[in-house]
Amino acid sequence: MTFEGVPIHVRDQDWLVDRFNMLLKTYFSDVRMGYPIVLSYGIRAQRRFGSISERNRQAIIRLNALFAHPDVPEMIIDATLAHEMVHYVHGFCSGLPRKVKFPHADRAIEKELEKRGLLVMYDESEVWLKKNWSDFYETHCKDLKAAKEERAESHSMLWQMWLAMPNMRDLNYLNCKLAHLLSKFPSPIVPNIEWYPANPRHQAITYYQSHTHTIYVHSALASAKVPEYVFDFELGYWIARIKYGSSWNKIRPALLQIMSEADINHAIAWRSNTWPNYRRQVMKAVTGYKRSK
Ligand SMILES: [Zn+2]
Repeated sequence: MTFEGVPIHVRDQDWLVDRFNMLLKTYFSDVRMGYPIVLSYGIRAQRRFGSISERNRQAIIRLNALFAHPDVPEMIIDATLAHEMVHYVHGFCSGLPRKVKFPHADRAIEKELEKRGLLVMYDESEVWLKKNWSDFYETHCKDLKAAKEERAESHSMLWQMWLAMPNMRDLNYLNCKLAHLLSKFPSPIVPNIEWYPANPRHQAITYYQSHTHTIYVHSALASAKVPEYVFDFELGYWIARIKYGSSWNKIRPALLQIMSEADINHAIAWRSNTWPNYRRQVMKAVTGYKRSK
């Protein structure tokens, strides 16, 4: 396509393939090819710039769909493709022998790019992304953001209705439970506690946000069907973890001060055997969502 005699590069699939082949020829010509590589644009993503995956003995490299926009410098595309190619070279999703144990550990990507003369460009792309990406996303994905906020709002309303049903545990229950556990097991930090309105991707029964000192409890637990020991275990776990760090060897003896060994085992079994299905059922009943694994 041209405009007043100047070629306009529309970043379509063909353009992407050309760009990638150029990159391969210039910087990766020594690489023995494993699985054939298929390139495509993925979704308009906020955080993920590129990915490589394996399907039917093909390596599939996906690029953030937003990179097709002319305001994103071409070097961002090159840097992202180069990053995914390094995974390929290192034997991830390529059928080639593994060269590193973990894809990103120990600056594996940067070292490989440096060897190939690509590190300066890669660093520049990181600088550009750091400086411009959140504004770019904000400007070009207002629709996604609005839809996301709307979903979150309707979710939280549905969960409020769930929590307001008869015989549900309420916030007062959580606070009393927490106070009771803290009386048996004093902690330097007294955490806050809240129900959280989960979406289908939220799988955590509970989680702790350290900068607000808040334990968040999945709203599905409010039902009387959930055994008491689940709360002792989950809240006790966080109290112990805040005090002693994440080592189970330290958390377990702390938990034994607030609950029996049998109940600890029941709680662990409930977590792995009952929770996944129970969560899906409640999620479906409350929000109407079927998806989620
Ligand atoms: Zn990566």
